[in-house]
Amino acid sequence: MRRQTENVLVIFGFSGERSAKRTVKRNIANEKIIHIIFLVLTIFSVLHNTKKIKRSKKVISKKIIRAIESSSWIRKMFEEAEDLKKEKEIFDFSLGNPDIEPPDKLKEIIVQVIKKPGIHRYMSNAGFYETRKAVASYLKEERGHRFSADDIIMTVGAGGGLNVVFKTILDPGEEVIFPKPYFVEYEYYVSNHGGIAKKVKTKEDFSLDIEAIDAAITSNTKAVLINSPNNPTGRVYREKEIKELAELLNYYSKKFGKPIYLVSDEPYRKITYGVSVPDVFRYYKESILVTSFSKDLSIPGERIGYIAVHPDIYEKDLLISGLVLSNRILGYVNAPSLMQVIIPYLLREKSPVIRYRKRRDMLCSALESFGYELIWPDGAFYVFPKSPIEDDRRFVSILKEENIIVVPGSGFGTSGYFRIAFCISEDKIERSLLGFKNAIKKAKGA
Ligand code: PLP
Repeated sequence: MRRQTENVLVIFGFSGERSAKRTVKRNIANEKIIHIIFLVLTIFSVLHNTKKIKRSKKVISKKIIRAIESSSWIRKMFEEAEDLKKEKEIFDFSLGNPDIEPPDKLKEIIVQVIKKPGIHRYMSNAGFYETRKAVASYLKEERGHRFSADDIIMTVGAGGGLNVVFKTILDPGEEVIFPKPYFVEYEYYVSNHGGIAKKVKTKEDFSLDIEAIDAAITSNTKAVLINSPNNPTGRVYREKEIKELAELLNYYSKKFGKPIYLVSDEPYRKITYGVSVPDVFRYYKESILVTSFSKDLSIPGERIGYIAVHPDIYEKDLLISGLVLSNRILGYVNAPSLMQVIIPYLLREKSPVIRYRKRRDMLCSALESFGYELIWPDGAFYVFPKSPIEDDRRFVSILKEENIIVVPGSGFGTSGYFRIAFCISEDKIERSLLGFKNAIKKAKGA
């Protein structure tokens, strides 16, 4: 700053040396004053923030304060994208929010059923019997087991369903194991109900590392939670992996004399690219399926999903009673009524896989040609490439300079990667490609 001041003096032609010295002294004094003001402001701001934190501790729980502080990267990036969109065109790959409209049939059925009397009232906490019966018969057709309406509980999306399951099965301090990378809300869904989330590594290709799961199991393990097709990797776990996992869980369930549940979160089941998703019920009796229509019907805002338990699961009646009660006392009471009436008409509806596949192919082949390392997703609408530099958060900011918003792998418990949610239009994806190309060049210093 001092050098700058001297330069200014020369530029403005202050030729007299004495007057120049006086001006320099005056500027040094000004600088000191500025430093003091800055120091006072910093102290004031620290005091203010400390006071704010102290105040907030009186208002909300420490657990929620911590959760807010480490809040989801997905939401953070989504909100940043929303702000930037006000100024310029942004390629927003942050959120798994399907851009493709729900099937026309959904709107037609809404119009048809809206006049039905009695559909807006309280109902059994498990959901309408007719809806559960329709879901059971769909599952029977899809997987070939003897499901009945009693095995099904309609829920407020898959997120609501997972909370119902963990509320029901967990005692404080019991553990739920799940593979990394993982859908970030899992940590909260487990800790919400006093459980401990135990995260285990996957292999290089994001397949299940059965040895790592084996090493993590203790007598305190209550469940293993898997998600296939996976968010954020798009990986579908193969038959062999599920079989090995089932063998492992059978072994430990016997050893500890209690079932270790396999909770299978499958909201992306219908979105696959030529790979079939193995049926967990076929391999393991203590399985609980949680799913929703958020992704395959593009209706995440409608909050509708269900839980299905294996027809022969251990102590089924008790488990079901627990799940139904949890649905009620978590405050959901029951899944949204109008959607429950509509879902039976849409169970066999196809997902727009062709369009997602086109996007996957366009994006993945372009990224590879630019030098990105990635594993092509088998399903869902995410790809999880390696960050070209170690610091994934830094790389995410380089992409932001290209108006591209993605989520760092750290947000999914796996740094060194980043997630692209390709549920945005083909046209936008195409126009974003140059930005991806520039970003890798910039990151590698080319
Ligand atoms: N599970 C996974 C793996 C997800 O990706 C999501 C949403 O993104 C959910 C559960 C929650 O789904 P829902 O909107 O049906 O609650």
